[in-house]
Amino acid sequence: MIDRPISELFSSGRPLRSLEFFPPKDDAGVEHLRQAAAALRKISPDFVSVTYGAGGSTRERTARVSALLKRELGFTVMPHLTCVGHGTEELDALADRIHGEGFRNIMTLRGDPPKGVTHFEPTAGGLRYASELVALLKRRHPDFCLGVGGYPEKHPEAPSEAVDLDALRAKVDAGASFVTTQLFFDNAVYFRFVERCRAHGIQVPIVPGIMPVLSLRQIQRFTALCGASLPTTLRRRLEATDDQPDVVEMIGLDWALDQIRDLVASGAPGYHLYILNRARSALALAAGLAA
Ligand SMILES: Cc1cc2nc3c(=O)[nH]c(=O)nc-3n(C[C@H](O)[C@H](O)[C@H](O)COP(=O)(O)OP(=O)(O)OC[C@H]3O[C@@H](n4cnc5c(N)ncnc54)[C@H](O)[C@@H]3O)c2cc1C
Repeated sequence: MIDRPISELFSSGRPLRSLEFFPPKDDAGVEHLRQAAAALRKISPDFVSVTYGAGGSTRERTARVSALLKRELGFTVMPHLTCVGHGTEELDALADRIHGEGFRNIMTLRGDPPKGVTHFEPTAGGLRYASELVALLKRRHPDFCLGVGGYPEKHPEAPSEAVDLDALRAKVDAGASFVTTQLFFDNAVYFRFVERCRAHGIQVPIVPGIMPVLSLRQIQRFTALCGASLPTTLRRRLEATDDQPDVVEMIGLDWALDQIRDLVASGAPGYHLYILNRARSALALAAGLAA
């Protein structure tokens, strides 16, 4: 079964809902994911994505989980692919394999370095930037529909917003069809980013990435890694209830719900949920958004 390109879904004009999974480390994790994903069929996400572990460490597991979600559960699946750890010949072979299995959408990234390594170094004979991977994939299979990452609060390594926007523009010019943003908690940050992108000639859909907070410690770790800021109001609410996980989850869901309502009402092309393989938050958000 050949997937439809996500760009076609965007052209319907209705806001798309997508969910992100990560490939679990063991069989028990895969079984948990299978159950979560089966429960999530109820809310009919337009597509789901599967991350590619830091340093290319999950190559086979990403492929396995993507196949499970596509063949067994019938989702339109967008596997992620990164430059890290692969030479260009290997990337060509990976592209052929993904295409051969009927996938037509890829989230195309440079990738984070492997655990314990702080600085990105391109692999010998490999690529330095996601824009180069976009070009490679489009050259190899022009019918791939490619998403790329965007950073409303600037990529942590970029020396300035302008340099980062040039990098995003290069990815779109190389053939990317849409942008999914890094997580953020203040919609004003997203709206400003979209405005800057448009002024920079970036015209493709820019999908906001939303992460419902599940714990203060976890979100502090994520935001420190990706450079997203945690609004003071949200931080204070989470601090006040940190010892009560159920309440923290409720606060996180409430916040995400407010963000999504406002984003969709303001014309965002949809929203991408970083759900960390849990069905609960996505189901609760869908229920909260039901008209
Ligand atoms: C939606 C989303 C999904 C993600 N999924 C994964 C995943 O599955 N696996 C994973 O390992 N990581 C993932 N990441 C994290 C991502 O890999 C990291 O943020 C990584 O550090 C940068 O990847 P990129 O594709 O944005 O890189 P790039 O677009 O290549 O940018 C990397 C840096 O280089 C700079 N740059 C780019 N081109 C140029 C140029 N020509 N000249 C000068 N500077 C340039 C950019 O400004 C930026 O600072 C994801 C991020 C997002 C937003």
